[in-house]
Amino acid sequence: MRTWEENIRKVVPYTPGEQPNQPDMIKLNTNENPYPPAPGVERALKEMSADTLRLYPDPTAGILVEAIAEAYHVEKDQVFVGVGSDDVLAMCFLTFFNGKKPILFPDITYSFYDVWAELFRIPYERPALDENFRIRKEDYFRENGGVVFPNPNAPTGVEMPLEDIEEILNHNQDAIVIVDEAYVDFGVQSALPLIDKYDNLLVVQTFSKSRSLAGMRIGYVFGNPVLIKYLNDVKYSFNSYTMNTAAIAAGVAAVRDKEYFEKTCSKIIETREWTKAELKKLGFSFGDSKSNFIFAAHETCPAEELFRALREQHIYVRYFPKGRTHNHLRITIGTREEMEKFLSFLKEYLKNR
Ligand SMILES: *Cc1c(COP(=O)(O)O)cnc(C)c1O
Repeated sequence: MRTWEENIRKVVPYTPGEQPNQPDMIKLNTNENPYPPAPGVERALKEMSADTLRLYPDPTAGILVEAIAEAYHVEKDQVFVGVGSDDVLAMCFLTFFNGKKPILFPDITYSFYDVWAELFRIPYERPALDENFRIRKEDYFRENGGVVFPNPNAPTGVEMPLEDIEEILNHNQDAIVIVDEAYVDFGVQSALPLIDKYDNLLVVQTFSKSRSLAGMRIGYVFGNPVLIKYLNDVKYSFNSYTMNTAAIAAGVAAVRDKEYFEKTCSKIIETREWTKAELKKLGFSFGDSKSNFIFAAHETCPAEELFRALREQHIYVRYFPKGRTHNHLRITIGTREEMEKFLSFLKEYLKNR
């Protein structure tokens, strides 16, 4: 082995869901929104002159921060934006998880957390979800270097009530607690109102799911101005121009259109509830998802078999073969028509098997 090889920062990377490109596909594998972004987004992009790209973007992404602050009734200095919430979460890990005590996150959760912990050499422990795939709040009542979990959790879709989050905050006044609210808009109470009461709380959200802008890469976090300042210090020590000109313009247009946002979110919630009922009839079981996906296991047919059979029909869902999740499929909620096609294939397949 060459000496320089010893010095390489080796890490086992996160595996994103595949992005196949079949014209007839039904893509239910990466929790994207089946509806287009707010109409103002297309207008904003069309009105953008290529000449503006000569200039660096505003490093503070000021108009986007302001539009988010206005939409959520917080102050500008309580908002930090980044290139998707992946970037925002990575910056939070780098900034706040810098001690010797292990940070805590569930054994079954967003699979990027352990990757960042490994990358940044942060010690971590992963308390197990209970047998119903629920987070046990008591697991987070012990000494730690920080806490992070999604609400609703991913890939289970299960919600943690706000009272339980507040209990976790009360037990962790000396550590930073990050609530990853990637799916909060699909029916969960946000922890945002707690940021004024708890100066150790960070609430991360994204434009990728509920605002149909996964391709633009916009994420943000709400927190105490002191925490936001520390995040900015790290950001400006890494890359000042994270948000590009097009993303800033698209983000502003998306966040200003509350009506469209609420309309598309409720369509997805409605389709989700209908899909749940249909899946139950077909012999699937799952926790009560409050997100734009359902994490389901079938009573007789193994998840891997269904995953492959669906794939042959160009219906893509997500399958996590390792560990306790090996018999579950994570099924994103698409349009009603997509879910009808998906379900009618499943029905035929299970009948003839
Ligand atoms: C999708 C997702 C993210 C990241 O989304 P971005 O596209 O980077 O904003 C973060 N956390 C969870 C739990 C997610 O599911």
